[in-house]
Amino acid sequence: VLRVENLNIWYSEKHVVKNVSFEVPDRSVFALMGPSGSGKSTLLRALNRIIDLYEEARVEGHVYFDGIDIYAPDVDPTWVRRRIGMVFQHPNPFPHLSIYDNVAIGPRLNRMVKNKKELDELVRWALEKAFLWDEVKDRLHVPAAKLSGGQKQRLSIARALALKPRLLLMDEPTANLDPVATEKIEELVISLKKEIPIIIVTHNPQQAARISDYTAFLYMGELVEVGPTSRVFTEPRSKLTERYLLRQI
Ligand code: ATP
Ligand code: MG
Repeated sequence: VLRVENLNIWYSEKHVVKNVSFEVPDRSVFALMGPSGSGKSTLLRALNRIIDLYEEARVEGHVYFDGIDIYAPDVDPTWVRRRIGMVFQHPNPFPHLSIYDNVAIGPRLNRMVKNKKELDELVRWALEKAFLWDEVKDRLHVPAAKLSGGQKQRLSIARALALKPRLLLMDEPTANLDPVATEKIEELVISLKKEIPIIIVTHNPQQAARISDYTAFLYMGELVEVGPTSRVFTEPRSKLTERYLLRQI
């Protein structure tokens, strides 16, 4: 679904992503690990062109999404952002909007539905996919602010899913959650991957081992390791990966 080729990113003069190449196959979870400041979020933001919103950032290289180079001059970045959804570390539903409206707002703005019935169905579908429907079906019209942290994160996921993305990017989605809420998100990632491949940034090697099919390790902007998760964890090719897994860096 996604192929990254020789991607380089600079913030002003600072080179933060260095000649990175990798591929994400369909039906898979791809974990991106690396120490703080290694460029994980920057790389992720370049994959759906959210990075265009950062004035100081410059991107070179290629990102092929279903064969389309998303940085080609005739590609509309808003199309890319709609097709490649993103979920952030801090759950960001609109607190004053209802649970329903948080999910419905994207499909409404993008004219994805013809009537209220279709919208209701889409909202329900997204909330079910995000493992949230059963918990909120009787209070769809309460403000999102009333939800717990874990529920807010699942609502953010539902909101992304409502746009029917072809790929989902998640930047440390469980970093602020307790173990129970984290486990729910991990289960949901595993259940989603059959339909929507996922790239997930995580600081937590155990999490990558639990949920991912492929793991990449980014160190100071360089992708020093990438491969099937089972191989990366048992026989890392880079000394840096090994040290990271042993929590030495
Ligand atoms: P963390 O694990 O802490 O989230 P990260 O791996 O996601 O780290 P990035 O946030 O991508 O790392 O940052 C990579 C480098 O780019 C860092 O040196 C950071 O200071 C720098 N950087 C990030 N955002 C900007 C920006 N908007 N302008 C300038 N420099 C930035
Ligand atoms: Mg980050």
